[in-house]
Amino acid sequence: MEVFEQKGICINSSLVIDPANGSNADTVLISHAHSDHVHFNGKNSVLCSKPTLSLIEQNFKKAKNALPLKNGKKIEFDEFTLSVHNSGHILGSVQALIEGNKSIAVTSDFKLQDSLIQKGAVPLHCDTLVIESTFGLPDYSFPPRSEVYERMALWIKKNIKKNNYVLLAGYSTGKAQELTAFCNAFLGIVPLVHERVYNNNKVYEKHGVSLGEYIKLDHNLQDSSILIMPPALCSRHLVQALQFSLNKRVVCAKATGWNYRHHFDEVFPLSDHADFNQLIEYIKQAEPKNVLTMHGFARELASSIKRKLKIPARPLESRNYQQSLPEFV
Ligand SMILES: [Zn+2]
Ligand SMILES: [Zn+2]
Repeated sequence: MEVFEQKGICINSSLVIDPANGSNADTVLISHAHSDHVHFNGKNSVLCSKPTLSLIEQNFKKAKNALPLKNGKKIEFDEFTLSVHNSGHILGSVQALIEGNKSIAVTSDFKLQDSLIQKGAVPLHCDTLVIESTFGLPDYSFPPRSEVYERMALWIKKNIKKNNYVLLAGYSTGKAQELTAFCNAFLGIVPLVHERVYNNNKVYEKHGVSLGEYIKLDHNLQDSSILIMPPALCSRHLVQALQFSLNKRVVCAKATGWNYRHHFDEVFPLSDHADFNQLIEYIKQAEPKNVLTMHGFARELASSIKRKLKIPARPLESRNYQQSLPEFV
């Protein structure tokens, strides 16, 4: 069995995981509903979890030929079986386990931490591990989630006491739902949410995740002291416009693992990706014979794995640049 990159993560030529734009594979597995992972052309059979399918249909387009997968249930291919398992990233996100003459686990985007609204991933035991390396540098070390929640709650309470209005920025799929639940659980405040967040909140609830109360933003800024928006919309211009219509100071914070402040007053390290320690912890528990890294700091993580864990590792390379079959798969 071989694994390589060619417009997605290919398992032999029968399955492509997280296909890139332009992949013509017959069967694709979409690990979760973030835009960089959702590519299909209407002809391929699309495997994904039921919640992922709902989020895709809410945010992108109808998926024809979709086959919803149940976590833990095996599907037979000619040379292997496939099963998917919670990856702890966003609603419906999965990691994949391929079992044939050897076993291959593909984490896709994942985290091990539990959040207010989702359990963390359980590492998959395997021979070959394909692991994301978004935060594959030791500099990226996130505090426990409970600590981040406490810090956020303190900062927000302090600002509300000063009569400031709080703008929270978080991706509309995943982070914004956690922020919605956080406002209810830690502050007892019902937040206003942007329409895109509102629609995804409804999908989360449809799949059994309770987020507490929230109000759709609709010319009703005064209805709360907190507004949750997608980060791309939280421009300086928006902050100014809000300050003008509310006639009070607006402070804004972003929930993300990337420590770039830009014009935000605060950045809270609330990430849906594993930090460096979680990446290493996953590998220790999975006990693979070899590791392929992808995304972000792929090269750096591969050398840390070789040095720290003494396991052969390298970035997953594109088929087009390979002279021969991958040496250790
Ligand atoms: Zn993602
Ligand atoms: Zn991603």
